[in-house]
Amino acid sequence: MENKKEIPYKIYLEESEIPTSWYNVRADMKTKPAPLLNPGTGEPMKAEELGAVFCEELIKQEIDNDTRYFPIPQEIRDFYKMYRPSPLVRAYCLEEKLKTPAKIYYKFEGNNTSGSHKLNSAIAQAYYAKKQGLKGVTTETGAGQWGTALSMACAYFGLDLLVYMVKVSYEQKPFRREVMRTYGAKVIPSPSTTTEIGKKILAEHPDTTGSLGCAISEAVEAEMKNPGYKYVLGSVLNQVLLHQTVIGLETQAALKKYNIKPDMIIGCAGGGSNLGGLVSPFVGEMLRGENKYQIIAVEPASCPSFTRGKFAYDFCDTGKICPLAKMYTLGSQFIPSANHAGGLRYHGMSPILSQLYHDGLMEARAVEQTSVFEAAETFARCEGILPAPESSHAIRVAIDEALKCKETGEEKTIVFGLTGTGYFDLVAYQKYNDGVMDDYIPTDADLQKGFDGIPSIPGIQ
Ligand SMILES: *Cc1c(COP(=O)(O)O)cnc(C)c1O
Repeated sequence: MENKKEIPYKIYLEESEIPTSWYNVRADMKTKPAPLLNPGTGEPMKAEELGAVFCEELIKQEIDNDTRYFPIPQEIRDFYKMYRPSPLVRAYCLEEKLKTPAKIYYKFEGNNTSGSHKLNSAIAQAYYAKKQGLKGVTTETGAGQWGTALSMACAYFGLDLLVYMVKVSYEQKPFRREVMRTYGAKVIPSPSTTTEIGKKILAEHPDTTGSLGCAISEAVEAEMKNPGYKYVLGSVLNQVLLHQTVIGLETQAALKKYNIKPDMIIGCAGGGSNLGGLVSPFVGEMLRGENKYQIIAVEPASCPSFTRGKFAYDFCDTGKICPLAKMYTLGSQFIPSANHAGGLRYHGMSPILSQLYHDGLMEARAVEQTSVFEAAETFARCEGILPAPESSHAIRVAIDEALKCKETGEEKTIVFGLTGTGYFDLVAYQKYNDGVMDDYIPTDADLQKGFDGIPSIPGIQ
């Protein structure tokens, strides 16, 4: 449906076209995502209870299923202007390389120092923490992108930051750690001896390389012990998806400028924030009956929450101190193999995306890491961007779909989210280049161990 106007390599919006509100897809969902539950009582968490952990304004966003648009405060819009709007790129070179009739576009979120989309929510969360008069925040980070983004945001608003970094990443990615420290964050490898839960996990599993679920438990415990601190999270939660809709709203506006209608929208899914942010406005059109799109979540075969997980209430963290969320989950005790896409190693999934998937509005695919790096290499060589391993999951499926079009002759329009750059992932690229990357896929028995830890809640599940 392209008009005759030629489509440029990069579709940029004007600064004045950066969205002024975030879009809350829950307002248009017929089946709302299930509420967070108190793990002690099995009752929905009240705002006051959530206030022990999270910032006030963010809690309002978390539990609001009805307000369609949340205005973006001016201070956040000013920060967005430093690195947004991000370009929507027509992958002409990749199309040519694949000799596909498909038209491929990607929304590139790697053009900021943190190197990923995570800054979109980090700056919002730091803003609300500062506005509440807090001294600082605590968080966890896996691969380090979230910690980096949040350290930039906290430096900007003058907040202290304590980051629990999954030990394997702390050791494998010293450069990310140093970026965080340069921005003033204190970085602790997790599990650590600074918390009770960390000590307990270390006693039970002395050789553990850590997990996101464990680092979350430590960060929440640290927040509770430190007056003037709250805990912030970089994915999974409704508020994070809300902030990330700036990606999808810009994409929608850029496509509209050239009258382009995508057939499919593809994104990688770790906790679901970039995918949720990218697709929310389009899912909104579907929910309101205005349009139809094929939406595909891509996850690692080593951590297959959507494709092999259970849709159930589960703990968000290994230490079982956070509220229960209803989501596709592999169980809070599941520790995935050392896949190099650290940002996709979480056991659970956004409750919003989980509900949309459950209701058939989205599909999901699991891909193996060697094939992901093959796609990354192809992409890097023709599009000139070294992609993050996480983002390369989306590239893999975009390429697969473009190759299918080559067979059928269909001229489908494919849009995918390129969430970040891979400059800090060179250990992974090295493994791939040396031909020593493995593709561990958990067995049913491996997964069953995780499922056994999913709680039963009287009257609910
Ligand atoms: C964290 C991260 C992801 C995965 O997180 P989501 O919340 O699922 O978006 C994907 N890509 C990059 C580059 C990341 O840093």
